[in-house]
Amino acid sequence: MISRKLSAGDIIDARCTRCREILNHRIVAMVEDKVVRVECNTCNGVHNYYPPPTVKEARVAEVGKEPSAPRKTSTPRSLKKDPTESDREEWASLKPTMQIDRAKVYDMNGSFRVNGLILHSVFGLGVVKQLIVPNKMQVLFQDGVKLLRCQ
Ligand SMILES: [Zn+2]
Repeated sequence: MISRKLSAGDIIDARCTRCREILNHRIVAMVEDKVVRVECNTCNGVHNYYPPPTVKEARVAEVGKEPSAPRKTSTPRSLKKDPTESDREEWASLKPTMQIDRAKVYDMNGSFRVNGLILHSVFGLGVVKQLIVPNKMQVLFQDGVKLLRCQ
C-alpha cells in the first residue's frame, strides 16, 4: 500500500481529459482512499480522476504481431490457351522458314496469297493465314493475328 495517505488538496499525477496529457492535478474529492475528482493544475478543469497509464499498456504492442498469411500460390494457368500466346508460338515456329528478302512489303492495294510472307511497317514479318472476302486477309505476326486490307 501507499505509505503516504492521499487527501484532498494533494497534488498527484493524473490524466487530464482536456489537456489529454499526464499532468499534475490537485485532489478535489475522495471516497475513502480513492481519488474521485481532481483539478488540473494546467487548465484548472475539474474532472473525474483517471490514473496515468500503467506498464500493462506496453504489452498491447506485442499483440499487433500476427503471423503473416500463408502465401497465395500464383494464379493457376487456365487450361485454355491464350489465343495470342498460341499465335506467338506458331509465329515462332514459322520464323526459321521466313526469308525476309522474299517477303512482300505490305501495301493495302497489293494482292497476297496464303502462306505468303509479308513485311509490315508496324507489325514486322508476317505470314498470310487466310484470305477473306472482301479485300481482307488474316496475317500472323509476332504479336498475333491481324486483319489487314488487301486486293
Ligand atoms: Zn488540464
